[in-house]
Amino acid sequence: MELNLSGQFFGEQSDEDALQNEVHKLIVVGGGPAGLSAALYAARAALSPLVFTGKDLGGQAASTSTIENYPGFPDGVGGTEISELFHKQAERFGAKFMFDRVTAVDLSQRPFTVNTDSGVFQTESLILATGSSPNHLNVPGEDRLMNNGVSYCATCDGWFFKDKHVVVVGGGDSAFEEGILLTHYANQVEIIHRRDEFRAGAILLERAEKNEKIHFVYSSVVEEIIGEEKVEAVRLRNVKTGEETVRPTDGVFIFVGHTPNTQLYQGQVEMDAKGYVVVDKLMQTSVPGVFAAGEVADPHFRQVATSVGMGAGAAIQATRFLENQ
Ligand code: NAP
Repeated sequence: MELNLSGQFFGEQSDEDALQNEVHKLIVVGGGPAGLSAALYAARAALSPLVFTGKDLGGQAASTSTIENYPGFPDGVGGTEISELFHKQAERFGAKFMFDRVTAVDLSQRPFTVNTDSGVFQTESLILATGSSPNHLNVPGEDRLMNNGVSYCATCDGWFFKDKHVVVVGGGDSAFEEGILLTHYANQVEIIHRRDEFRAGAILLERAEKNEKIHFVYSSVVEEIIGEEKVEAVRLRNVKTGEETVRPTDGVFIFVGHTPNTQLYQGQVEMDAKGYVVVDKLMQTSVPGVFAAGEVADPHFRQVATSVGMGAGAAIQATRFLENQ
């Protein structure tokens, strides 16, 4: 039995059996901005899309405290809040949601097959919107101390570092945005970057520079995260001088880019060298009837606004595809 995202039970065994016995017009894999936008457009085109969200609604957007660059919200909007709004709007027009995790897809013939934790589903068309996941540093101590001081989400874990010292690793928008958020909790935030120039945009840079709690460590990489039960320090290496230092800290927040979640489709749709699904202007993948949207197919923009646009486009094109069959 699956709990649907409005809190109603969707998928009493009989409902779930019915969903498994029919061939759906469209299945959307992923419940982030791209998947939810695709669900809305497909629902309004009367495709009754079935959406597998995985265990969390909203994808990475949901773990962003405030989104300030999504049009229509001049005062910003919470990541969880906007995800719920997207979901509610899609559901209003007939999209069906399940918290199920997709475990395999077979794109070799239509109808396509989608295996989930709870069953096997079939569909005439498919939108892949599984997003991307944060990269790890892959240094000693990182995996062992994950959730014990090592984190990839300030919104989720910042609260645990009230009046503590934390380091942020990375020099892009995420490192700055999350570093600034961490100053609401921690008393000192050190941003450690491997170069002496940041990639982050001007507004975030200026905000961070003005924030008294933020300090910068340039041209340095984390070689090791040290601690027994929890993080106690990081060992840094200055990439210019080779000098190594141990810096005591309570937390390590890592924002060093993302990897697309495309393992499920490996060998079944064309991907680029970095593993992003290749789509054309119409969001079509190399397999007719399979579309992709959002960060799973976008190494360039990675914004809620652009993912929403890709999701809408994918659903419009899926509708056209089905009409032409
Ligand atoms: P990003 O722009 O790719 O930045 C990743 C940062 O991590 C870079 O500074 C990079 O260093 C560093 N890095 C990569 N691998 C590393 C390693 N192994 N060790 C140490 N440092 C490493 O990723 P992002 O910040 O997550 O942003 C991704 C996209 O989302 C961007 O397009 C960004 O504009 C967008 N975004 C926008 C907002 C916003 O508009 N408010 C917020 C978050 C993200 P180098 O600079 O040396 O390559």
